[in-house]
Amino acid sequence: MVLPILLHRLRFLIFLTLPYLSLGQAGAIEILNGQAIQGGLLVLKTKPGSKLTINGKKTMVTPQGLAVAGFHRDDTTTLIVQAKHPNGTTEKLVLKPSTRNYPEQRIDGLPTEMVTPPPVVLERIARDRKLVIAARAHASSINAFAGSFSWPVKGIVTGVYGSRRILNGKPRAPHYGIDIAAPENTPISAPQDGIVRMVSDLYFTGWTIVLDHGHGVSSTFLHLKKTFVSVGNKIRKGAKIGTVGSTGRSTGAHLDWRINLFEKRLDPALVAGPMPSQ
Ligand SMILES: [Zn+2]
Repeated sequence: MVLPILLHRLRFLIFLTLPYLSLGQAGAIEILNGQAIQGGLLVLKTKPGSKLTINGKKTMVTPQGLAVAGFHRDDTTTLIVQAKHPNGTTEKLVLKPSTRNYPEQRIDGLPTEMVTPPPVVLERIARDRKLVIAARAHASSINAFAGSFSWPVKGIVTGVYGSRRILNGKPRAPHYGIDIAAPENTPISAPQDGIVRMVSDLYFTGWTIVLDHGHGVSSTFLHLKKTFVSVGNKIRKGAKIGTVGSTGRSTGAHLDWRINLFEKRLDPALVAGPMPSQ
């Protein structure tokens, strides 16, 4: 009867050892970049081969163990990231977003049809929206999302992420991009590698490009004058993808740059950091 006793002891040992193991491996889900804040993008690193869920939902992991998490403008929900490692151990990381206050921005003198679109264009607006949602829905396995982002244009920031917008005195949806004023036809460079998912002329945003950085992270560039890329093109960081314009609902030449994690709106200023001096 030595064997059962040994097995029992072994089990007891394993039981004792498990909590120790998970303590010993604390930090096996690391935050490589970013912070838990509304509008924030976090690059996570776990062991290669580990499986990750965020609030119970499977999330993509690169072969190197990289993954992404993010918070929408008003998210207050804590994200619980759980890893299941190849050796069977599990790990947990709790991300509770810090909340932010957003400024109010009033813009007057916009053409009426841009603030309250006439019924005849509602169909077009609905179609535009579907195009953009589809362009941002790609869950591609490229890992550009984990690299550092640079500013696509340097200029004066005239609109920030999250601001409550009052257009011609009417409350409208918050602003989800960062507006950078720059002369018309200033070249726009890709902030990171990506795959072009959309190049379209839309009612509100004019000529618009969506660039897929992998795992649901995408950049959108609005109001362009010219576009130099086509759907499916693989773009390297720094490549010229178009030029600054004022197409769509715009009061002057500027680039409106947005970053999404699928449908979640992230703050490009948090992702790219302070704009370098020109
Ligand atoms: Zn804007």
